[in-house]
Amino acid sequence: MPEAPKKCGNGAGLGVEGGILDDKNIRAFEFIEDVTMNAKEVQMQVLSEILTSNSNVEYLQRHVLNGRVDADTFKKIVPVVTYEDMLPDIERIANGDMSPILCSKPISEFLTSSGTSGGERKLMPTIEEELGRRSLLYSLLMPVMNQFVPGLDEGKGMYFLFVKSEAKTPGGLMARPVLTSYYKSSYFRDRPYDPYTNYTSPNETILCPDSYQSMYSQLLCGLCQNKEVLRVGAVFASGFIRAIRFLEKHWVLLCKDIRAGTLDSQINDPSVREAVKRILKPNPELADFIEAECRRESWEGIITRLWPNTKYIDVIVTGTMSQYIPTLDYYSNGLPLVCTMYASSECYFGLNLNPLCKPSEVSYTLIPTMAYFEFLPVNRKNGFTNVSQSAPRNEKEHQELVDLVDVKLGQEYELVVTTYAGLYRYRVGDILCVAGFKNKAPQFKFICRKNVALSIDSDKTDEFELQNAVKNAADHLLQFDASVTEYTSYADTSTIPGHYVLYWEIGLSGATPIPPSVFEDCCLIMEESLNSVYRQGRASDKSIGPLEIRIVEGGTFDKLMDYALSQGASINQYKTPRCVKYAPIIELLNSRVVSNYFSPKCPKWVSGHKQWCT
Ligand code: AMP
Repeated sequence: MPEAPKKCGNGAGLGVEGGILDDKNIRAFEFIEDVTMNAKEVQMQVLSEILTSNSNVEYLQRHVLNGRVDADTFKKIVPVVTYEDMLPDIERIANGDMSPILCSKPISEFLTSSGTSGGERKLMPTIEEELGRRSLLYSLLMPVMNQFVPGLDEGKGMYFLFVKSEAKTPGGLMARPVLTSYYKSSYFRDRPYDPYTNYTSPNETILCPDSYQSMYSQLLCGLCQNKEVLRVGAVFASGFIRAIRFLEKHWVLLCKDIRAGTLDSQINDPSVREAVKRILKPNPELADFIEAECRRESWEGIITRLWPNTKYIDVIVTGTMSQYIPTLDYYSNGLPLVCTMYASSECYFGLNLNPLCKPSEVSYTLIPTMAYFEFLPVNRKNGFTNVSQSAPRNEKEHQELVDLVDVKLGQEYELVVTTYAGLYRYRVGDILCVAGFKNKAPQFKFICRKNVALSIDSDKTDEFELQNAVKNAADHLLQFDASVTEYTSYADTSTIPGHYVLYWEIGLSGATPIPPSVFEDCCLIMEESLNSVYRQGRASDKSIGPLEIRIVEGGTFDKLMDYALSQGASINQYKTPRCVKYAPIIELLNSRVVSNYFSPKCPKWVSGHKQWCT
């Protein structure tokens, strides 16, 4: 098996000692070359390692694998599963069963995925050593980037990174998002000095649990060091735009602090104050400059104006995040948008080896050491995904899954992973398309997440949840002898933060008009009915704006159908789309809106699963 780059210091991937950057870059490229060249052998070895070390676990014994570690037997015997299939085992672990159910190594914590099941976040078991694997992938990113944009070691990155709330399972394991787990780990906190992970935000500002204080202090530090900043970013595009919006709201206060070298009293976390004070010095000249820029009527190009040496924006704009590309282009005067990696709570998958390509051309090379990857072929006809909802059960269907090195150029697949932490043939739910190869390893375009209708930030709402939310809200209209005869939805990202818009056509048989407050209640009922990731985005992260209902005049949905038929849809097969994205359709709907209403307050949300709190 090709050797991973040598660890350094605390083992955080490719550390840099004594500024030997070239050496680090060379080792990263050698590693990528090795594992992509020998992708098949590496994958077989990964599977064998996972099955050998977990031969005693209950899950594999249940399927009578009997210690066999070859791919053929594994594929014949072990079923392809969804989260729901694994839920009973996951619940046992969450409730405190410490026996080796999925993995022989102790489950160190649960990573709470933004995918949901029964309205709650999915819980992904993980083990300590996975942190090393994640670190390794991170350590490959900058050597790749440096090939295309040299000199990044001569300045800093202004990244808006945040931790989110944590909860404990009834059995006492931590449950938190994967990035919170990573930022709190020694791999991140105690990373050795490395020009590639030299950020404007001190660790304390990133680790501050109060999102206002965290954002304020990170922006303040980023502004104070504006000339040193060579790249800016956040994990997802939505998070970066939120930071710009925050700046729009708070630049007066930020400038006041920069002018006087003082820190606003709302920032009361002692460790944050201490860390910011190390950077903040009175700088009236800088404050004047920022003030003048922010006062200008247009914020077009604000990034390049305030951080003039910025070479690119590092944010994910693939998948649903592509809806934010125009806004980012506006704020940055068209700086390159760079998508560096593809990862999830289940497993970190791979990286983009051509990071300066256009967002529409981004493809990710899966790194064969991260997990054992399989691929379920998908046929999407006319943009509709046709993969079976349930796991394939019979042997023939099992065999349909292909290995990493056997995928075909241009074909779409659903990703299936077997991880070191104890997921076996687990359907991730992402649809990928093979766009090319790096040596023997395929490169995938991210196509979409299966069954996601609406998404603003990390929320992923499917049609079923939407239908249920509309039904709950529509019941509220019965008292007026009214009903929702048709509906569709739209993720409106023209507002910051973006918000869900529901277009409702109403059938009214009663004589009493419906008061606006009833529609506002309907907005809130829908929000209360949506999953916990949505409600967290609304109530805690403030990354999603209030849900809006737009009432459209009678006959609007007939017009929508007429439009679809004029575009070639078949009248026999026509179904009202429950989510729309296409601009002419949205224009048609908007032109027939008679009134609109917003949710008057945030829906309820508590950290941790509902059932743990009751
Ligand atoms: P989570 O489990 O909450 O960490 O979310 C992981 C999911 O986010 C993945 O399965 C993808 O659906 C999505 N995702 C992660 N990275 C990317 C990317 N680079 N492009 C598009 N979608 C991504």
